[in-house]
Amino acid sequence: MAQAVGRNRRVVLYGNPVLRQPTRLVTRIDDDLRRMMADLKTTMLTQDGLGLAANQIGETVSVFALSPRGADQDLKPYCVLNPVVVATEGQVEGEEGCLSLPGVYDYLPRPEFVRITGLDESGREMTVEVQGLLARAVLHEVDHLRGVLFIDRLSETRRRMLASRLKELEAREAAVQGCQNRRLSEPERGEGDACA
Ligand SMILES: [Zn+2]
Repeated sequence: MAQAVGRNRRVVLYGNPVLRQPTRLVTRIDDDLRRMMADLKTTMLTQDGLGLAANQIGETVSVFALSPRGADQDLKPYCVLNPVVVATEGQVEGEEGCLSLPGVYDYLPRPEFVRITGLDESGREMTVEVQGLLARAVLHEVDHLRGVLFIDRLSETRRRMLASRLKELEAREAAVQGCQNRRLSEPERGEGDACA
């Protein structure tokens, strides 16, 4: 079967309710899902992410993509379906960011090593064991699939310091959603329209 060529899709921003919606488990691998997985990998690579969860491109299904660059030399980016964390070890403080939270970075502790089980893109059972930065990425993506963002793991004080930036992102996302809804209901728009 020919490898599907993915599209670079829009990554939704903080404030989009899809980021808070727990995803549903994959029960069938069909062409739609294969296309979505190709999109997920292409979007992650194009936008320079280490990982990307399906709900970040608006798909509420339990799939994330991982880009094991650097750590495991020749491994291509791949998707994990229905991931479950089965073991973690150690703890390390590290900086974290998120494509859905551009400009927001902070330090938080995560396990140093993680083992997850799940399915590969063909539906075969797989185990992934990673450490360091990739362990952080995997745990960050597994959080996404449950509707959890890394800022949820910060202290109240840290979150308060980020509040104005978060409000900005929320407003940006609300504007995009408003325009998308209008495009569906009134495809003809005049000049000077903010959504045109
Ligand atoms: Zn993220």
